[in-house]
Amino acid sequence: MPKHGDLNALPADLLAWFDRHGRDLPWRTALGERRDPYRVWLAEIMLQQTTIPHGTPYFLTFTQRWPTVEALAAAKDEDVMTAWAGLGYYARARNLLKCAREIAARGSWPETAAELKKLPGIGPYTAGAIAAIAFNQPAAAVDGNVDRVFARLLALKGDWAEEKKRLHAQVERLVPEDRPGDFAEALMDLGATVCTPTRPNCLICPVSAYCLAKAEGEPERYPIKPPKKAKPIRRGAAFVAVHKGEVLLQRRPDKGLLGGMAGLPTSDWVEGERSDPAPPFKAAWGEVGEVRHVFTHFDLRLTVMRADLARRPAKVEGFWVPLDEVEGLPSVFAKAFRLATSG
Ligand code: SF4
Repeated sequence: MPKHGDLNALPADLLAWFDRHGRDLPWRTALGERRDPYRVWLAEIMLQQTTIPHGTPYFLTFTQRWPTVEALAAAKDEDVMTAWAGLGYYARARNLLKCAREIAARGSWPETAAELKKLPGIGPYTAGAIAAIAFNQPAAAVDGNVDRVFARLLALKGDWAEEKKRLHAQVERLVPEDRPGDFAEALMDLGATVCTPTRPNCLICPVSAYCLAKAEGEPERYPIKPPKKAKPIRRGAAFVAVHKGEVLLQRRPDKGLLGGMAGLPTSDWVEGERSDPAPPFKAAWGEVGEVRHVFTHFDLRLTVMRADLARRPAKVEGFWVPLDEVEGLPSVFAKAFRLATSG
């Protein structure tokens, strides 16, 4: 029986599917009757901008090394930043530490989405996810995956910003009182494994009877979003200075892009045509190539320069690291370093 657009019975059907097909993920290890808020929070923060296969090893490393929020709160900043390297979006790692320290100082997690949202680095989605999954609060966790699923279920065609507001209110109304956490996870699983961005698998979908987009016959056209603006391109250079098997690294300022991370010395990264990069000191710099990297707000083209030095330059900020001990660089610098030192 088609139930198009009337979603009232959807939670029950979705949960029945979740009970059989829910994914077994490391952060879903039950702690007694509840999930561990620390693990739920850590996984949500780590997976905000990356895939589960990429993020899972980081999650396992973190929870092995810092098994509780108190342990993480007591960790050294550099250790956490280095362990985070490769996950990108380093402001999140800094907020992760701030948040862990706030929780450790107050002695427990707040349990409602409204309170959780006040913590560093926790936005509405993560607050809803932690409240529902770890504390069984009647909260919704609506991210891009859930947006997509509901845009299809309701075949939303209007202005996307307005439709999203409607959709969020709709999801909140549907949260079942007895299983809010399972409902949040079931929606995540549906979006990740069945109602995927380009190939929704409507044939096996547990909520297909409700779905207007499926009835229309072209579900992948939803959500209908305004076209994205092209990202600006910035250009700059990274400098790989090598002396007696060691490379010069610098700690980046705490504030700003890749703040607090170790990196290669660089020029400024600016929009516009390529210009001759200004090196941090005089040496016989030779160009070894270019690396590209995508940041949230711009694409970067980084010219990689290398110099092999007879002696270390005086008065240059930074520290020297043996080439075979370089680890934990942010991806953009890891790419530049590999390019300059391989072969
Ligand atoms: Fe997505 Fe298809 Fe299920 Fe609709 S029926 S929610 S489009 S997978």
